[in-house]
Amino acid sequence: MRRNRRVKILATLGPASSEEAMIRKLHEAGADVFRINMSHTDHDTMRELVRRIRSVELAVGRPIGILADLQGPKLRVGKFKDGAVTLALGQDFTLDDNPEEGDETRVFLPHPEILEAVQAGHRLLIDDGRLQLLVLETDSKHIRCQVVAGDKISNRKGVSLPDTLLSSGALTEKDRKDLDAVLAVGDVDWVALSFIQRPEDLAEARKISRGRVALMSKIEKPQAVERLDEIIELSDAIMVARGDLGVELPLEMVPSIQKRITRAARKAGKPVVVATQMLESMITAPVPTRAEVSDVSVAVYEGADAIMLSAESAAGNYPVEAVATMNRIAEQIEQDPLYSGIILAQRSEPEATGADAVSLAARQMAETLNVAVIVTYTATGTTGLRTARERPMTPILALSPVLSTARRLSLCWGLHCVVTEDAYDLDAMIDTACRIAVEEGYARAGERVIITAGVPLRIPGSTNMLRIAHIGSDGLSAV
Ligand code: PGA
Ligand code: MN
Repeated sequence: MRRNRRVKILATLGPASSEEAMIRKLHEAGADVFRINMSHTDHDTMRELVRRIRSVELAVGRPIGILADLQGPKLRVGKFKDGAVTLALGQDFTLDDNPEEGDETRVFLPHPEILEAVQAGHRLLIDDGRLQLLVLETDSKHIRCQVVAGDKISNRKGVSLPDTLLSSGALTEKDRKDLDAVLAVGDVDWVALSFIQRPEDLAEARKISRGRVALMSKIEKPQAVERLDEIIELSDAIMVARGDLGVELPLEMVPSIQKRITRAARKAGKPVVVATQMLESMITAPVPTRAEVSDVSVAVYEGADAIMLSAESAAGNYPVEAVATMNRIAEQIEQDPLYSGIILAQRSEPEATGADAVSLAARQMAETLNVAVIVTYTATGTTGLRTARERPMTPILALSPVLSTARRLSLCWGLHCVVTEDAYDLDAMIDTACRIAVEEGYARAGERVIITAGVPLRIPGSTNMLRIAHIGSDGLSAV
C-alpha cells in the first residue's frame, strides 16, 4: 500500500476505535501511527491495543508506528461536598493540603510539591482556563487566591500553572509505572513525555528506556518554549501540543509558536507532530469546518512530519471519516503547485556531515535527473531522517533491516518504510533497492533510482554512498 502524501497521520485510539477491525479501517483510511493515551488507558487495555495493532500490521504488511503518550504532571484538584461550587468574582478561594471535601472557600490540592512551588502573583488556571485564580499569598500548606475570571469549579478539574516552574522531574509515579509497562510489552516505538519544562526532564525516561523506545517531547508549557532548541536537541521527536499550550499561553500566541517549533524541529531533522483540535468538530459531525480544513493545511504547508487526531478518532462518532478527511486534505495540499515552493523556502542548510552531504546531493540529483525514487538504506534511522530533512519532492523509500527502525520512521515526513534483510555486498544492495522500488510501485523498468546508504550498514552517522541505478526489464539493476 502506497500513500499519496508525504505528511503522516497519527490517530489516537480510544473507546471509538479499539476493535481490531476498526484499527484496520483507520490504517486503510490513512493512519500511519497510532497513539495510546496513557491518561485514559489501563495497562491491560494498552497491551491489548498493541496486540491488535501488530495483528493489523501483519495483515496489511506495512510497518505501523505505536506511540504511548504518558500523562505527565497533569494536576487536578480534589473533590467537593456537592460535586461542584459556584464562586463569586473577586472572592478568596484557597487550595490546601487538607484531603477533606471542598466547599465555596477551599479545595484539596493533592500535590504537596505544588503547594511549595507556587508563589504570590502566579496564575492558576482551572478547567482549561475556564476559572482563573490569582495567588495572593502562600505558605507550604495553603495557596490563597482571588477569583479573577469564571465562577465554576467541580470535582477533579485540571489545574495549569503557566507561571510556576515545577521542581519535580517530568515523570510522575504513574508515568514510571506506565513506562515500565510499555517497555515490558517491548513492541512500542515511541513514548511521548507530557509537560516537559526543561532539557533535564528527558533524562530519567532516557535512562529507564535505554534505547528501547524513542522519546517525543510534548511542547505544552511556556517554560519548554523558552528552552526549545535544547529540548529538541535531546529529543527524538517533538509534538506541538496545542491543547495545553493554548491554556498555559494566550491562544493567539499558539500559531506563531507552532511555526517556531516546526521550523526548529525541521532544522534539527527531528520529526514534528502538530496536534489537537485539528478536526475537532468531526467528533460529532461527518464533515469538518472550513477553518479546520485550513488548520490542517497550515501544518502540511509548514512541512510538519505528522498531523494528529485526538478525540476525533479516539472517542468521536466518525473516526474513519476523520482520518479519511485528513488524508484527503493532505493529498490535495501536497498537489498544490505552490506547495513545493513553500516547503523549499523553509529548507535548512545541510550540516557538515556525510549524511547531510549525501542527502543534499541525492535530492539535487533526483530533481535534476527526474529519477523515480530515492532509496535510502537506514539501519539506525539516521540516513532516513536526514534524507527526509531535505524534503525532496522525489518520493523516498526507506529500507531497513531493523523492524523497529521502520516502525519508528513511519512517523517521519515522506518516508515509505520497508523491512528488508541485511544486504552484504554492494551489488545485492543495488538489486534489492531496484526490486523493492518496483514492487512497492515507486519505479518501473527503464526508470532511474538513486540509492543512498552508510556502508557498512548499522553504523550510525556513516552515510557515505550514493548511486544512480537503472531499472532493467527484469526489475533489477541494469548496470
Ligand atoms: P494531550 O496532549 O491530548 O495528551 O493533552 C496534546 C495537547 O495538549 O495538545
Ligand atoms: Mn496536553
